[in-house]
Amino acid sequence: MSSREPAPPSRPARPHVPMRPLWRCRACGAHWPCQPARLALLAEYRDDRTALLVYLATVMSEAAGQLAQLGGQPDPAELTARFLTWARAPGAGGHDRPLRRLGPCPGGRRS
Ligand SMILES: [Zn+2]
Repeated sequence: MSSREPAPPSRPARPHVPMRPLWRCRACGAHWPCQPARLALLAEYRDDRTALLVYLATVMSEAAGQLAQLGGQPDPAELTARFLTWARAPGAGGHDRPLRRLGPCPGGRRS
């Protein structure tokens, strides 16, 4: 009737941000960082993976403290996997995939 709200056309209402001190996503309720949050972080820090890891380490220690206060016993290995492992640069582990291709074919194939 008379209530006309300007609805934003294609914007999700809630961003995927953590809800402290539970550290669940405000938008989807998953453990933060949820998948959309991870993607957003990777996009935001795509030029500076080190800064992303520093940020994640900071929020991880904050989360560990708050979760411990809630009575849960956060497993450090689980927290590391949840906050840090996914963000490590590809190639930091055993398998590295070269991002650059080698230059022209060494055989000098011409056509
Ligand atoms: Zn979410």
